[in-house]
Amino acid sequence: MTTVSRPNQDLIRPDKDKFLAEENPFEAMMSRFDYAAQRLSLDPGLYKVLRSPEKQVIVSVPILRDNGDVDVYTGYRVLYNTSRGPAKGGIRFDLNVTLDEVKALAAWMTWKCAVVNIPFGGSKGGVVCDPASMSNVELERVTRRYTSAIIEVLGPDSDVPAPDMNTNERVMAWIMDTYSMHKRHTVTAVVTGKPIEMGGSLGRREATGRGCMLVTRQALARLGLPLKGARVAVQGFGNVGSVTADLLAKEGATIVAVSDKNGGIYNAKGLDVADLLAHVKEHKFLTGYPKGDAITNAELLTIDCDVLVPAAMENVINSKNAGLIRAKIICEGANGPTTANADKILEDKGIYVIPDILANAGGVTVSYFEWVQDRGGYFWDEETVIQRLERIMVRSFDEVAGMADKHKLNLRIGAYMLAIERVAAVHRLRGMYA
Ligand code: NAD
Repeated sequence: MTTVSRPNQDLIRPDKDKFLAEENPFEAMMSRFDYAAQRLSLDPGLYKVLRSPEKQVIVSVPILRDNGDVDVYTGYRVLYNTSRGPAKGGIRFDLNVTLDEVKALAAWMTWKCAVVNIPFGGSKGGVVCDPASMSNVELERVTRRYTSAIIEVLGPDSDVPAPDMNTNERVMAWIMDTYSMHKRHTVTAVVTGKPIEMGGSLGRREATGRGCMLVTRQALARLGLPLKGARVAVQGFGNVGSVTADLLAKEGATIVAVSDKNGGIYNAKGLDVADLLAHVKEHKFLTGYPKGDAITNAELLTIDCDVLVPAAMENVINSKNAGLIRAKIICEGANGPTTANADKILEDKGIYVIPDILANAGGVTVSYFEWVQDRGGYFWDEETVIQRLERIMVRSFDEVAGMADKHKLNLRIGAYMLAIERVAAVHRLRGMYA
């Protein structure tokens, strides 16, 4: 792997000082974007267009609490870029939602959809609220009021939400219903991640983890390492982490460690994923699982293994611990698990990082399949979903690796370059409506 020095970005980032913190999500995204744009020699006009979100909507979301009080929450929806198609991106309900974060995540979605070459732009949304303190009825009111507040931007042809932090298929069903009531007819394709009964896709639940397994398999093959017996550590044992662990184990890998937010379990001889899932089903967390040693999340990240899958949250691999990581491959199941400062440290150590915008793109790919099936009114069997997902993930991995090799860069910058080039190409073809 070739190490490259980063050019001075002062010339290209007039507002850089605003975004100096290592953990600022917009900075994490923009620093990679800037570097990739420079390597592509992106013309300055297009650079300015691509670093600006197309539309930012801020709304007040008043809701009636069960005790009769009225609360007003702030909601955001950012459409970052729609040149390649309708915007696509999740909605999160969380107290930590900020406009900066939503903008960064919307940009990420733009690049992610372009990396796997599906005809979507990128968006993201959120409501600043604490869903844990709400009843189900209050959650439904927030969802419906937020949906109606942003209804002008929503639609199968304009902006298609999906679940994200603290939102799920129940919330997607309410969004679909609210939108359909306003439109006076049922519009299934307005959201993805819906229950199967109302237009969801088979294979969506496992899609992100399946994508992680597929790109890990490709990366191991590329490095000449066997998948059978590869030692894998997975941080996060939710949707993405548990499915990745399960599918990699089924391919012959040895899962040596897993964790959730309360800590992890280590067993050098390998963990039985089905047994771990049964434990979590009964006890909610991995804590107390008897067939391994308890480890902390910090220890999990630095254990001796072949593949590390951070599949929990952002910024867990940073300048403080990147130097201690011993994995040969990192497959970024989570969004933004590695800070920009850590990139260089990992690259110097020769660690092969499969970046989030490629590694976890299986989810949005099957969301695309869901949207296609809803619009066509014709639903595929699970085997078809799995086959088509595999084709796209394998092709995308090869295209990103090809771009990285061509420019002697790491996969992350290769992925950004591929994505930026695809979005820029459409802008050039469409021309400037000025
Ligand atoms: P999830 O809620 O199902 O699971 C999250 C897991 O992470 C849980 O096991 C939780 O206990 C654990 N966790 C939380 N905080 C932690 C901490 N501080 N340390 C260690 N573990 C912690 O969520 P998910 O859907 O699996 O998503 C995980 C990540 O993948 C997120 O970054 C998400 O944005 C990203 N992602 C998810 C999808 C998808 O389709 N679900 C798609 C793309 C990206």
